[in-house]
Amino acid sequence: MQLLMARKNGPPKPPILAREPPNAHAVEERLAQNEDGFRLLFMNNPQPMWVFDAESTRFLEVNSAAVEHYGYSRQEFLTMRITEIRPQEDVPRLLEDAAKARSGLRDAGTWKHRLKDGRFIDVEIASDRLTFAGQNAVLVVARDITEQKQAEKALQETERKYRSMVEDAVIGIFQSTPQGRFLTVNPTMATMLGYESPQDLLACVNDIRGQVYVDPKRREEFSRALEQQGIVRNFECQVYRKDGRKIWISASARSVFEDGAVVRYEGMNEDITQRKLLEEQLTQSQKMEAVGLLAGGVAHDFNNALSVITGYSGLLQMRLPADDPLVRYAEEIAKAAYRAAGLTRQLLAFSRKQVIQPVILDLNSLIVEMEKMLRRLIGENIEIFITRDVGLARVKADASQMEQILMNLAVNARDAMLQGGKVTIRTENADLDETYSLQHLHFKPGRYVILSFSDTGCGMDKETLARIFEPFFTTKEPGKGTGLGLSTVYGIVKQNGGYISAYSEPGQGTTFKIYLPQAEGTVQSTPAVRTAEILPRGSETILLVEDEEALRTLARNCLENQGYCVLEAADGNAAIATAEKHSGPIQLLLTDVIMPGMNGRDLADRLTELRPTIKVLYLSGYASDLIAQYGVLDPQILLLEKPFTLRALLIKVQEALRPSAKAKAAGAS
Ligand code: ADP
Ligand code: MG
Repeated sequence: MQLLMARKNGPPKPPILAREPPNAHAVEERLAQNEDGFRLLFMNNPQPMWVFDAESTRFLEVNSAAVEHYGYSRQEFLTMRITEIRPQEDVPRLLEDAAKARSGLRDAGTWKHRLKDGRFIDVEIASDRLTFAGQNAVLVVARDITEQKQAEKALQETERKYRSMVEDAVIGIFQSTPQGRFLTVNPTMATMLGYESPQDLLACVNDIRGQVYVDPKRREEFSRALEQQGIVRNFECQVYRKDGRKIWISASARSVFEDGAVVRYEGMNEDITQRKLLEEQLTQSQKMEAVGLLAGGVAHDFNNALSVITGYSGLLQMRLPADDPLVRYAEEIAKAAYRAAGLTRQLLAFSRKQVIQPVILDLNSLIVEMEKMLRRLIGENIEIFITRDVGLARVKADASQMEQILMNLAVNARDAMLQGGKVTIRTENADLDETYSLQHLHFKPGRYVILSFSDTGCGMDKETLARIFEPFFTTKEPGKGTGLGLSTVYGIVKQNGGYISAYSEPGQGTTFKIYLPQAEGTVQSTPAVRTAEILPRGSETILLVEDEEALRTLARNCLENQGYCVLEAADGNAAIATAEKHSGPIQLLLTDVIMPGMNGRDLADRLTELRPTIKVLYLSGYASDLIAQYGVLDPQILLLEKPFTLRALLIKVQEALRPSAKAKAAGAS
C-alpha cells in the first residue's frame, strides 16, 4: 500500500507533538520526506486518525488507535463510509462539511461518533485536505472528549443545582459585608424585605444597619457575635421592609475569613413575624388567665362578706322606725356595700364568673335603645355616628352585659376626647376563615358579628395598648380610673364566646373590635322585672340551706321578718334530716350551690323525691358552679346571685313560690 500524501497549498509548518491533534500539514511534509517513518507516525499515533475519499466519503486508511477506539477492524473500516460512524441526524451537516472540505475549507469542531458497539462518543476533529494515492482525500484526527464533556456537564449540573438551591430557597439567603452592604441576596430574601427583585434590593440598600435594622444597635450586636464566635444562630430582630412595615426575622450566619480577617457574612433569614405575634398573644392570654383566676377568687370570698353587710344594713332599715336618725347610717352602709358589690361584679365579669343568662339578641336594636343614654354619658362635644348593617345576624349573649360593654367603651372614649371628637359605632357580619384564625391564637373560624367602636381621641402607645385589658391597669389619675372598664369588657366578651381586639396609635384615636359568634333563633325580649315598692310577705315554710352561718342567719332574719317560717340547715345531710322530721309542708328549698358534702343540685334532687311539690331557689355567686352542674344555665332554674340585697331575696322567694306573680309583673311592664 502506498501512503503518499502531498500538500496542496501553504508553507511547511513544524510538527506538533505530544497529545495535541497532530497538525495535518506537518504530517504530510514529513511523509513526503520519509514515507516509512510517517507511515509509522500515522499508524502508531495515539490519536485515532483516518483518511477518507473526499468524493465517495469512503475510508481510505485508518490507524491502529482508530481501530482500537472505535471497535471496527481495519478491513471493516475500509468498506465503510464516514457517514456510517455518525448519528443519522448529523449526516446532512457532515455532507455539507465534506463539500466544503472539497472546496478547500478545513473541517473542525466537535461531533458525535458511533462506535461499533453502538455507543456514541464526543470527538473533537481536526482535518485537512490532501492527495492520497492520487485521490482527493481528507485526513482526519479525532480526539475523544466524551469524558471531558461529561465532566463539564456534571459540573454544570452541580452548579445549576447549587444555584437553584439558593435561588429557589424558601428562606432568605444573603452575603453581606461587615460594613453593612449586601453582596448577594436570593429572591426570597428580596421578597421578604418587600423588594421587587434581588437587583432592586442591592440597588436600594447600601447601609443595612441604618436602612434595614429597626434598632441599629442590633446589627452591631449581630456583627460583634459574628466577629467573636464566627457563627450566630437564630438571632431575632425587627427589620424594615421597603414599604416601611416592620417584620421580625431570625438570622443564622457565619463569618467568612480570608487571611485571618472577616471579609463577609453568609447566612439565612427567616420571617418569624407570625410566630412572634402568636407568642405575644399567648403570653397575653396566659397573663389574663392568671390574673382572672386571682381576681375571681378574691371576688368570690368578698361577695359573701358583702352579702352580710348589705343584708344586715337592710334588716336595720326594716326594723328601725322610719323617722329614726339611725336609718340614715344604715342607708350609708348599704350604699357603700353596693359600690363594693359593683366592683366585685366587674372582677367576676373579668374572670368570666359572672352569672349570665344569654338570650338571642339583635345588637342593632340594643344599640338603638342605648343611643340616648350613650349620648348623655359622653356629653355634647362628642358626636356619635352609628352605622348598622341592616342584615346583621343575631348573637346569643347577655343583654345587660352587652350594655355594660357599650357603656365602658363610651366612658373610655369620652376620657380620651376631652377636647371633643367623634365616636363611630358600627355593626357588620363577618365570615372569618382559617387564614384569619391562623394569625390569631385561639380564634375559631366561623361566622361572626363584629361590633366596632372607634374614637378620634388621644390614642395609646404600644406599651399601654399591651396592658389595657389587665384589671386595675389605668393611666388615669387616682380617683378617675379604676382600671376595671376594659377588663370587664374583655371578660364579658370571652364569657360570651367572642374575641376582642384593639387598634390604636398615639394621637390617632382607638378602635375596639368585638367579635361575637352568630347565632340562630328569634329575638327574645327580656322584660325588666318590676320591683314592688312594698316588700313581699308570705307565710310559707322555707328550708334554708347555707354553710356560711352569717349569711344563713341573715337570710333567716329577713325571711322571718316578712312572715315566713324558716327551717335552717348547714349542709345537705342536715337538710334531709330536717325535712324528714318536719311534719308540716315545706314549700321552698332555698339552697347554696357549692357546699361541703352534698351539693345544692343533689340536695334538690333528693328533696324532690321526698316532697315532689317542693320548689327550689339557688343561691350562688358563681356562674360556673351552676354551669358545672347543669351544663348551660337553663332559664328555668331559679337563681339568686350573691351578693344579694334583702329586697332581691324577698322578690325571688316570692317568684319561686308563686310563678304567676312574676308573669303578671312582666306583663304589666
Ligand atoms: P380606666 O378607664 O378606669 O382607666 P379601663 O380598663 O377602662 O380603665 O382602661 C384602661 C386604660 O386603657 C385607660 O386608663 C387608658 O389608658 C386606656 N384606654 C382605654 N380606652 C381608651 C381609648 N378609647 N383611648 C385611649 N386610651 C384608652
Ligand atoms: Mg374605663
